Amino acid sequence: MPSQVKTPRFRKIQSFQLDYAPTTITQYESERTGMRVIVADREGPKINGYFALPTEILDDSGAPHTLEHLIFMGSKSYQYKGLLDKLAGRAYSGTNAWTAVDHTAYTLETAGWDGFAQILPVYLEHVMVPTLTDDACITEVHHIDGEGNDAGVVYSEMQGIQYGSSELMDLRARRLLYPEGVGFRYETGGMLESLRVLTNERIREFHKAMYRPQNLAVIIVGDADHDDLLRILDEFEESIKDDVPGLDAKFKRPFIESTQPPALKQTYLETVEFPEEDESTGEILVAFFGPSCVDNVQATAISIIMTYLCGSSVSVIENVMVEKEELASSVSWWWDSRPNSVIWFQPTGVATEKLAFVEQRLISLLKEVASKPLDMSYMKECIQRERRQNKFYAEGNEQYYSQNMITDYLFGNRNGSTLQDIQSMSEYDILDGWTDENWRGFLRKWISDAHHVSILGKPSQSAAAKLKETEETRLAKRKEELGKEGLAKLAERLETAKKNNEKPIPPEVLDQWPVPKTDSIHFIESSTARSGKARSLGIPNTSAQKTIDAAPQGLPLFIQYEDVPTNFVHLTILAGTKEVPTKLKPLLPLFAENFFNSPVLHNGTRVEFEDVVKQLEKDTISYGIVNGGRLGDGESLAIQFQVEKEKYETMIDWLRTLMFDLIFDPVRIKAAVTKALADIPEAKRDGRDMALEVDTAIHFVPEAYSVARRTLVKAVYFKRLKTLLESDPDTVLSWFQDLARNIFTFQNFRVLVTADVEKLSNPVAAWDRLASAHGLDPTKDLLPITKPSAILSAEGRAPGSFGSVIIPMATLESSFSVSTATGLSSYADPRLPAYLVALGYLEAVEGPLWTAVRGNGLAYGVGFSREVNGGAFQFRVFRSPDASKAIEAARAKVARIASGEEPLDRHLVEGAMSGIVLGVADDQATMAAAAQQNFITGVVRGLEPDWNRQLITRVRNVTGDEIRKVMTEVILPVFEAGKSNVVVTCAPIMEEGMVKALSAMGYKTQVQPLSHFHEDYGLKGPEGEEEEEEEEDEGDYSDEGSEGSEGSSSDESMDG
Ligand SMILES: [Zn+2]
Repeated sequence: MPSQVKTPRFRKIQSFQLDYAPTTITQYESERTGMRVIVADREGPKINGYFALPTEILDDSGAPHTLEHLIFMGSKSYQYKGLLDKLAGRAYSGTNAWTAVDHTAYTLETAGWDGFAQILPVYLEHVMVPTLTDDACITEVHHIDGEGNDAGVVYSEMQGIQYGSSELMDLRARRLLYPEGVGFRYETGGMLESLRVLTNERIREFHKAMYRPQNLAVIIVGDADHDDLLRILDEFEESIKDDVPGLDAKFKRPFIESTQPPALKQTYLETVEFPEEDESTGEILVAFFGPSCVDNVQATAISIIMTYLCGSSVSVIENVMVEKEELASSVSWWWDSRPNSVIWFQPTGVATEKLAFVEQRLISLLKEVASKPLDMSYMKECIQRERRQNKFYAEGNEQYYSQNMITDYLFGNRNGSTLQDIQSMSEYDILDGWTDENWRGFLRKWISDAHHVSILGKPSQSAAAKLKETEETRLAKRKEELGKEGLAKLAERLETAKKNNEKPIPPEVLDQWPVPKTDSIHFIESSTARSGKARSLGIPNTSAQKTIDAAPQGLPLFIQYEDVPTNFVHLTILAGTKEVPTKLKPLLPLFAENFFNSPVLHNGTRVEFEDVVKQLEKDTISYGIVNGGRLGDGESLAIQFQVEKEKYETMIDWLRTLMFDLIFDPVRIKAAVTKALADIPEAKRDGRDMALEVDTAIHFVPEAYSVARRTLVKAVYFKRLKTLLESDPDTVLSWFQDLARNIFTFQNFRVLVTADVEKLSNPVAAWDRLASAHGLDPTKDLLPITKPSAILSAEGRAPGSFGSVIIPMATLESSFSVSTATGLSSYADPRLPAYLVALGYLEAVEGPLWTAVRGNGLAYGVGFSREVNGGAFQFRVFRSPDASKAIEAARAKVARIASGEEPLDRHLVEGAMSGIVLGVADDQATMAAAAQQNFITGVVRGLEPDWNRQLITRVRNVTGDEIRKVMTEVILPVFEAGKSNVVVTCAPIMEEGMVKALSAMGYKTQVQPLSHFHEDYGLKGPEGEEEEEEEEDEGDYSDEGSEGSEGSSSDESMDG
């Protein structure tokens, strides 16, 4: 399009800077179409775009969600499926989208403005003027395949969700909260029975009604070039002016100008059964209507009163129901921000026979709280803490802006007044002035005295059986009705649709867009300094190092500093678990759970855990203890604090107290065990996680922490531990003491301090408060970090002899699989750049595997693991009507590419290379992330400081031959019997077919119940106690180490 020398026709509504973060917010409106543009300018390598449309529908047809999928299938000027994603991939971008009950949002995240600017108009055209062909509707939404089964991308997605406890309960609650005719009542994702009859006409009609410029907000968070942005949008509007209704067309603002929900006239209490084999625990959902989200003070008050009630183990609801009475494993809460907001309480892990009692207990407890004076000093702490957290969130998280901006666009005032509330945090000052009576009045009005909707979620074996039976009957009847001929016709129609959808994109079309330069990607620089034993890794030549060297020195604790201009201090202590005796390793999750939740000894007196938590909350922004996997070391614990810089030394005092003066208390340990046990049934319902856990059991040694912390270990070990706690608490306590002694040693600590180093008053010697603790020996040499490849079992080192195992699970409607073969084991492997490009190539959105698997309805997603030095390599199938078919389709595709039979697509190769650049930018998207990345690179992985930048260069030079070679050597074996093992979790109905299919591929097969993979680490139950359903065996047990779900698409509501 020729550039126009016109002033863009956008009106600036307002522009203001936030009081508490270096961010400017600007709002524009198109004078021609009414389209809104809202930009939050902030520094960093990433630009995040959100194209949001309020979408309101009064049925369960699923038109909003199916439309969201179809948008990506082509647009007026770009009538090729996959063009958008191919372009985006090359321009350091990723696309995604979600459908909520009240809006649809499309995301574009890019490293650097140039790439963003290139994709923006192409993407917007897809959103506003999509092709919406019947062929696309057949493959993406729903079809009946040649065997008479229902399939289609959206259909399979909803199939995996519709009968889950959370979906069933949420939907029932909304049916009770909202009458017919109110949009919030409906399942915008689409109910299966509706999706089966949904027509493309209905979807097109919905697009026409909702997707108009005056119902579109273009929201951008990042380093945006405003002039360029408005110019692009002006040209875009020009290009679609004949395709969209003008500003004068009649349009009702969704939800705002619609029927408003009436107040609840009564309280509802209903039971919803959900299909589940394990009937021991269920959950509860309680909903109240709350104030309008547009009222900033009231909205913030909700968040504070809920934090007061159930924000942590010391808040009253959690403290009584979870910690003291052990009625639930947690009571979480959330809030739907709407004009009539909804406040949700969710007690989980509730014993099934106590569901009704626990619901009553919650309501009576709420009334009790409202009937007595509140703990106003704690209330004020909650206000201050939330203010600190918001400021912190605003510095480190782009979603702080996008969430606020989307909500404001949906429900706020169009004159900009409600968005302006974000400028300051004055609402906290107002709330700080609220009295006890104000708060209790608020609590009574919206919660304790208010009508509500309560849903008891009850697990049911018979519901599972009934569901299966109904589905089988329905399908059998249909197949009979269709007959051979009917089925053949459907198969043919599907093939035609696929063929039409897969029309290849001529290379010259893509060549119109050059790969953008990387100059506009502004990486965040974090400079490193080191003290104590960390100096042995090299002493950086940085000003931060000079500051550290000039400061008073202390004991030689291993500390790496990362200097960034943050207002906060982020601290991580990485502590290895290697020295912990194997039989105690399953205790580590409990140890972590209680680390911040136990009494301590302070100057010789016992301080109860509630006071510990209250004081911790006062001194910090947040704190936690997690698996070290996110720092590249899955075999360690990472203790983390985020504090204001004034609290630097206080935090070190805390570390010393928690590490050395913590009292292991049988009551606290029992509470933690009970909670953990209550969560197990739910964890065991997850087909993906269970497949990964079993895969881990096969390929890693039981000594590994990542193996010992699995649900399938907890399931037996914790049960027996609970019994032992009753009969012999001293033994259990001695185990915990032993564990602490083995972890908290001088030689086992690596510290990362991320801060504005200049502003720390005593950065080095302050650590002597910890390092001088009794029993620490500063002369000891540091223990090495465990290499991921060191925890492989014999089978993990040479996969293939195990074969395959099929695990039927009653909770599943579909199947999941994990295949494991040998992978790279070192960052020094010269094949690494080609390996990363090959994986990016195969996994590209609309790329080879996407079209071969997802495009054919064989799975919602497939993907590979990304570990580079673990020595194992995984292929995962996520939510598939038949995982064996997905595996076979993926294998065939990879084989064709590896052999050269199918040539490499140049644009996709460029996309894979750009994807690695985007990955590097992602890892360094914020100051804290950039700092952490330096620590991972230098300390955990022992690589050169500029390793990532070097990688980008090396990746650009990868050749086609290198890609094919690595596919043949590393990737293909994961599909080969004898060189790989396969774990499948699936619906029981699929068992027989799966066994046949895997045998046909050459795998040894066995069918096992999930309980076959339980492991007790030698902790036996008391004699005479026969534990149900547990067969012991002596396999190797392990876990994948990283927390990631990086393999497959995993988020239920996110897809693209
Ligand atoms: Zn979807």
